[in-house]
Amino acid sequence: MSQSHRARWHAGALAALFLALAPSGAGAQAPTTSLPPANHDVFAPLPLPAPSTIRTASGKPGPDYWQQRADYRIKVTLEPEAHRIRGSEVITYTNNSPDTLTELWIQLEQNLFRPGSRGALVNAGTRWRGAFEGGGIELTRVEVVQRGKTRQPRYFIDDTRMRIDLEEPVPPRGGKIDIRIDWTFIIPEYGADRLGRFKSVDGWVYELAQWYPRMYVYDDVDGWNPMPYIGQGEFYLEYGDFDVEITVPREFIVVATGELQNPEQVLTAEQRQRLARARRSAETIHIIHPDEVGKPGTRPAGSGPLTWRFRAVNVRDFAWAASPAFIWDAAGWDGILLMSAYPREGLGTAERPGWEKSTEYVRHSISYYSQKWYRYPYPVAINVAGVVAGMEYPMIVFCSVNARDQALFGVTDHEFGHTWFPMLVGNDERRYAWMDEGLNTFLNHYSNLAYYGQDAQRTRATSSDYIVNQMLQPTHDQPIMTFPDHLRREGLGFLAYRKPGFGLILLREVVLGEERFDAAFKEYIRRWANKHPQPADFFRTIEDVSGEDLSWFWRGWFYSTDLLDQAVDSVTTRDGQTLIHLSNREGLVMPVILEVEYADRTRERHRLPVEIWFHADTYAYELPAGREVVRVTVDPDRKLPDLRRENDTWRKATAVGARAGRETSTATP
Ligand SMILES: [Zn+2]
Repeated sequence: MSQSHRARWHAGALAALFLALAPSGAGAQAPTTSLPPANHDVFAPLPLPAPSTIRTASGKPGPDYWQQRADYRIKVTLEPEAHRIRGSEVITYTNNSPDTLTELWIQLEQNLFRPGSRGALVNAGTRWRGAFEGGGIELTRVEVVQRGKTRQPRYFIDDTRMRIDLEEPVPPRGGKIDIRIDWTFIIPEYGADRLGRFKSVDGWVYELAQWYPRMYVYDDVDGWNPMPYIGQGEFYLEYGDFDVEITVPREFIVVATGELQNPEQVLTAEQRQRLARARRSAETIHIIHPDEVGKPGTRPAGSGPLTWRFRAVNVRDFAWAASPAFIWDAAGWDGILLMSAYPREGLGTAERPGWEKSTEYVRHSISYYSQKWYRYPYPVAINVAGVVAGMEYPMIVFCSVNARDQALFGVTDHEFGHTWFPMLVGNDERRYAWMDEGLNTFLNHYSNLAYYGQDAQRTRATSSDYIVNQMLQPTHDQPIMTFPDHLRREGLGFLAYRKPGFGLILLREVVLGEERFDAAFKEYIRRWANKHPQPADFFRTIEDVSGEDLSWFWRGWFYSTDLLDQAVDSVTTRDGQTLIHLSNREGLVMPVILEVEYADRTRERHRLPVEIWFHADTYAYELPAGREVVRVTVDPDRKLPDLRRENDTWRKATAVGARAGRETSTATP
């Protein structure tokens, strides 16, 4: 319980609260046989994977924790006349595992867009579609280099995966191999909401992601993780350094993951000065003003294509965007360069601001999350407007060119929230979407409130009434733990985002209190920064730091579709003692917050821990003697997703007002 919670409760009631749990009421209903407690199945330890010296019982990475490393050197050329990419890369893969590797698995996500791909067949007619004639990746070279020797390995490609069979295995604990791949593909116009191209009046805006062959993760939990890319499931990626050279026609501006290494070759002197000023400026400064778009003076003198070189250290992915149509602006926060790149179609109006506000939104997100949870780990942050509705990559995010006002703030804030999950804390998104989307939705809730206060439109979606309504939707009948590709499409937004996000708000505001929750959540980020946590590592870390066994919470909220219904059944008086008879009428359990109103109209709050439900689904709470109770309400602030509000309040019957049985004061348990 935190100080701020304490302040909201009437102080007088508090001292007695946790001592007042002597089971006088419960004793009356205690089982007379030696049967197990009624709710044993709810409170039993969660059957998590056994801890090890790799992933410990406390949720920390253990002394034997290891992960692989993949460093990339890439040269890529954009050919806009054919909407084509030509790339050439060297992946330096380091096998830190204790295992000898005889094969390598590589992701070829562009094959999602090949007609007949798994994703195209599974997702026909949805936003994860995107297959088109000519789609898919073509490899023109596959070589491996080991100990100075270059070989053409045997490999096979199945859908979005490639397996390379090695003649000479990669030895454990530091063995290295270089993989050289050349490739080409046609950029889809609409790339399953992850990449694509938008036609501005000033030229095409290309957004490039999943654009280079990249390593699958090899880990201690599943070995290789070659799960196909189907659409809903996002990405699980190794960390490494990227050195990327992007060659584009001279009139194009390029923004990317990483820091630009050669500004004197690709920017004008004026633009370099504006960028330097912007880095120290709270106000947004134009690098390319709307009136300058397309003017030859915005590009260095000369002819022929330009190569933009970017370097990114210790990231799990690399994305970029290029266009001759970009308006480009920037500001700074604490040494971090914050930028937006958008075509004029993104500009808003005085009443409905658009992308001209983007950098201000970026600045809020980066500074807010940095101060609240963990410092932004990168030197730059770029928001790009285009065809992609909202998608995150390290240092760069893609948001819809059509987003305006609070919707643009919302999507920008969400995509940059992903910096912390999964860019920094590198979870397996393909299996556990909630570990990034849910944790991020939780972050966004408070960021949104910090920016807009109570005017925030999106807070409606985190109200308990909204959540209950969503829990009852027939399409939302799967647990949060379901793999995202297995979730019903209609359920993804709720089960991967809203429900886990709301669950963490509950955990923070109702179960643990802000102080304990925040300490645990920050510690989770710190422990797993640039690593690969599993769900158990998250659950264990929160329990370890908060000191609370939360098996019931994880089981109920994450592993089940159970509902919550807390009720005040009756209030009785016996020998001057007042008993409040409560019941828990659905499968979920939660602590109880009671508001008691006395005949003199004073009110006080009582908090009962979740342990009151250990032995039965009913509980009688004994109030200190001597005062007449006229009203009792559970969950008075409506923080819990309580199914039936109509049984939340008991009122003392009056001569005129006696209505229903549960509202009388004469019922007995
Ligand atoms: Zn997201």
